[in-house]
Amino acid sequence: MNKKKITFSFRDRPKIIKRLKKEPVDVLIIGGGIMGAGLALQAAASGLRVGLVEMQDFAAGASSRSTKFSHLGLQTLKNFQVESVNKNLHERAVIRKIAPHILKPNLVLTPLYEEAGATFSPFSAEIALSLCNELAPERPKFTNRLVSRKEALQLEPNLNPEYLVGAGICLDYEINDARLVIDNLKAAMTYGALLVSRIQVQTITHDRQGQVNGVQAWDRLRKEELHLSARLVINCTGPWSNQVRKLDHYDQQVSPLYLMKGVHLVVDQARLPLKMTTYFDTREDDGRMCFAIPRFNKVCLGTTNRQYQGDLENPPLERSEIEYLLRVTNRRFPQAHLTLADVETTWSGVRPLLVGHDWSNLNWNPTLTMDGQKWDQFVNAVLRYNSGIGKKETIQKLLNPQAQKQIHADSQTSLVSDSAAVTITNDGLFIVMGGRLMEYRQIAAGVMLKIKQQLERQGFTAIALVDSQSLPIAGGDFDWRRVSASLAQYAQLGVEQGLSSQSAQQCVDLLGTSAQAVFEKMALIEAAPGLTKLQTALLYYMIDQEMVLTPLDFLSRRTNYLLFGLDQVESWKEALVKAMGQYLGWNSDQERAGLLALNQTIKLMTLTQFQ
Ligand SMILES: Cc1cc2nc3c(=O)[nH]c(=O)nc-3n(C[C@H](O)[C@H](O)[C@H](O)COP(=O)(O)OP(=O)(O)OC[C@H]3O[C@@H](n4cnc5c(N)ncnc54)[C@H](O)[C@@H]3O)c2cc1C
Repeated sequence: MNKKKITFSFRDRPKIIKRLKKEPVDVLIIGGGIMGAGLALQAAASGLRVGLVEMQDFAAGASSRSTKFSHLGLQTLKNFQVESVNKNLHERAVIRKIAPHILKPNLVLTPLYEEAGATFSPFSAEIALSLCNELAPERPKFTNRLVSRKEALQLEPNLNPEYLVGAGICLDYEINDARLVIDNLKAAMTYGALLVSRIQVQTITHDRQGQVNGVQAWDRLRKEELHLSARLVINCTGPWSNQVRKLDHYDQQVSPLYLMKGVHLVVDQARLPLKMTTYFDTREDDGRMCFAIPRFNKVCLGTTNRQYQGDLENPPLERSEIEYLLRVTNRRFPQAHLTLADVETTWSGVRPLLVGHDWSNLNWNPTLTMDGQKWDQFVNAVLRYNSGIGKKETIQKLLNPQAQKQIHADSQTSLVSDSAAVTITNDGLFIVMGGRLMEYRQIAAGVMLKIKQQLERQGFTAIALVDSQSLPIAGGDFDWRRVSASLAQYAQLGVEQGLSSQSAQQCVDLLGTSAQAVFEKMALIEAAPGLTKLQTALLYYMIDQEMVLTPLDFLSRRTNYLLFGLDQVESWKEALVKAMGQYLGWNSDQERAGLLALNQTIKLMTLTQFQ
């Protein structure tokens, strides 16, 4: 495969499809979320011929709809899943090396209330925080700690002081989920992977021996059917996993997955002038936890999970879900008096959870009742662990008896992380099930071992698997030990193009080292009418290098403008559609359709149906 000829651009889309149709690939991945994208990179970097088809925009599924947090603080230790947290802290340290621009450190405050049904007491929070410190793979610059009531109120004056007894402060990381996908795909592209969006798989095809040998798919843009051949087909479709499994008519089984829905609301920070990310329980006796996260002058409120069945592409928000989030937020921040009218925008998503390995379900509440004897055993186990003689597993078993009920890997199914597994069906379809954002590399590495085995069994010469722990994603090829200093150097290139230091910094925070190409573009172009030069350069760059096909792709999965800057986008969205139309040679009907689709999405996100 020629590495240079194809770009990740609309202009090369027909060429990519032609290649996919012409030559069978070694690995055809269905699904362009984080699991598919991470696998595409590792497979292509290991020298395999890789194809990936995504029926929507890349990352349009769960991978752009998450809370965008690594969740490795008090929130996961809430269930004392010690071993899982330990492994995931190590894995997060790896991701910080290969994707340093994607993770941003963020201190999370968990208020502790003395009230019936409280999730944490100061004692249990202190144990959880000290475990968090003990488990950190590197000596952290910040020590997670318990603070007094007074300090909690100084740190976050908006908190409800009634019954407040203190707070836990824990270091966590924000994740730009959709950029993690796009930057994995961009890196995969440089190794020759053939990646196409808006291609929906409709049937899994078989050879004469009944083994999977490709797919029949539908090009949603060109309205045509495609037959794509592959040695191996990998179902990486997250919440759609069982729907896609059903497209394999030789396999009648169902994967052990269930779906949970989560919702997020965005309000202006002026309405809730939050200083710190806050993770709080609801006092509704429902075991649920919520987030309030300050982001770009907005505050994002969020909670998972509710078991869900329904539309997966655009899971609708229900009035009761919105009212619930506003009610519990007002309870913890009583000065805010938030109402539906304060909600500027929203998003919701559905996540796939693997039965029995659902520790990433933050609202999963195992029964933690203990009699006196068990409590003594528990305290003893923690003390022994802290002094280096006890095992984490002992603590976990005492606290989490449900861990014993996990599904056991069989000959077809292997666990590839704490919350994900891969199954190979009798007819040879690979199915990746479950997984959290921060586990994606590890999951892909586990799947690659299976792919290698399977291909070598088919007579493939030995495959040298890439070392994915040192394989940077696009934009992440800089010194991860000096993230701020390195990014500041890149931002300087933007300042040289006349940007304010804040705008230049925002651009490098988004794109890492890829921002350099945007700044270089600024030197070569005129601003499109109604757009700034930076907006224009970003748009052209993302059309040419990131397969932006619609205004929504740009405003949502590539830049997040729609989530955290909708009030501003309203004033330049028409100029954006015009600029896109001109750059891509759209006719007026296409321009109108682009604007209509954007407005419909904005309408849904802004809850006009409830006002
Ligand atoms: C509300 C919410 C909050 C979350 N918060 C966090 C968090 O803070 N931290 C964290 O680590 N994780 C979080 N998660 C979990 C995380 O987002 C998901 O586990 C992860 O994104 C799943 O990635 P995926 O690639 O498996 O699925 P997806 O991202 O959904 O990708 C699957 C893709 O397959 C495509 N597809 C489906 N059918 C077909 C077909 N027939 N043909 C072609 N393509 C197809 C879909 O369009 C989709 O893009 C959250 C999830 C949700 C929903």
